[in-house]
Amino acid sequence: MKSAVFFERDGVINAYAKGASSKEPPTTLEAFKLLGGIEALMASLKEAGLLIFVTTHQPGLSQGTLDRRELERMHRIMRAKLPIDEVLICPHEASDACSCAKPNTGLYKELEHQYRIDMDHSYVVSDKWQDAAAAHTLGCVSVMLDSPHLGKAPRDYVTSSLDEVGEKILYLHTHQSELVLV
Ligand SMILES: [Zn+2]
Repeated sequence: MKSAVFFERDGVINAYAKGASSKEPPTTLEAFKLLGGIEALMASLKEAGLLIFVTTHQPGLSQGTLDRRELERMHRIMRAKLPIDEVLICPHEASDACSCAKPNTGLYKELEHQYRIDMDHSYVVSDKWQDAAAAHTLGCVSVMLDSPHLGKAPRDYVTSSLDEVGEKILYLHTHQSELVLV
């Protein structure tokens, strides 16, 4: 079984459309800007043998404020620049009461089954409490980016930069491998 890193998209891989406190996702390709440090981070995780997934909630698809073809253009650019194995999207609104909008675990479960992932030795990276809560439910290690959106959900680590996220995960991943050998 393989270990994976599950990335939240907005605020971790790409910038918010209107600043860090807005939580508003970009709705155009022009507004879709990768954050500094994400390419180096994912490259180092890939090199360490980890699978890399992106899970993202885009209710604008249901609300009509986000065009699916525009989103596909953004993701094509993202996947051309970053070593991402798969991107899963929840397109639903809160009123849909779906099982895939985080903190529900539907997106993660789908990837777990498809790729046979060892969830106990996998990681969730996000700036929002919903992902930390999902990680807690799934038994993954949550490595959070400090932000105004962390809330009070249980989480394992809070870091101040993508560099620090990489250091933490690579340390834990190496350490876990050693434990398995013992
Ligand atoms: Zn959903």
